[in-house]
Amino acid sequence: MSNDDCIFCQIVDGDIPSHTVFEDDTAMAFLDANPLAPGHTLVIPKAHHETLEDVPEETAAHVFGVLHRLNTSVQHAVDADAANVAFNDGEAAGQEVPHVHGHIIPRFDADGGSPIHAVAGQRPDLTDAELDEIAEEIHTTR
Ligand code: 5GP
Ligand code: ZN
Repeated sequence: MSNDDCIFCQIVDGDIPSHTVFEDDTAMAFLDANPLAPGHTLVIPKAHHETLEDVPEETAAHVFGVLHRLNTSVQHAVDADAANVAFNDGEAAGQEVPHVHGHIIPRFDADGGSPIHAVAGQRPDLTDAELDEIAEEIHTTR
């Protein structure tokens, strides 16, 4: 389940050092090496899965549980006012390390950052019928 070419697998295997803040059999969390804010933390499944779609549901639920707990710890540790919690899921969304990871990015009042809405490209102007069609498609493929 480990990929020799993957930086995060090498962190899991202890071959690359990290500031680890959590570890159990399934998940691990460590500080981002190039933090966007103090306390910027990455939470990963230990097994190598490239995108969220590849992660078995039980593992995903466990990783989310860790993310949920650490989100509170991280914010308290750096006295943050808030946090953005997000995955870059796939290359087109900006994912650079192809091993699923959730970001916890602490935020501070007037830190000059942006909300998660800032990450997308040009906004589409969708009609109600188009929204219906998309919702139906999601419903049938879920
Ligand atoms: P992505 O763009 O794939 O969502 O984010 C990858 C993150 O991994 C980046 O924020 C980057 O700073 C971080 N990163 C890349 N290489 C390493 C590393 O070797 N160690 C740690 N701790 N973080 C890394
Ligand atoms: Zn990996």
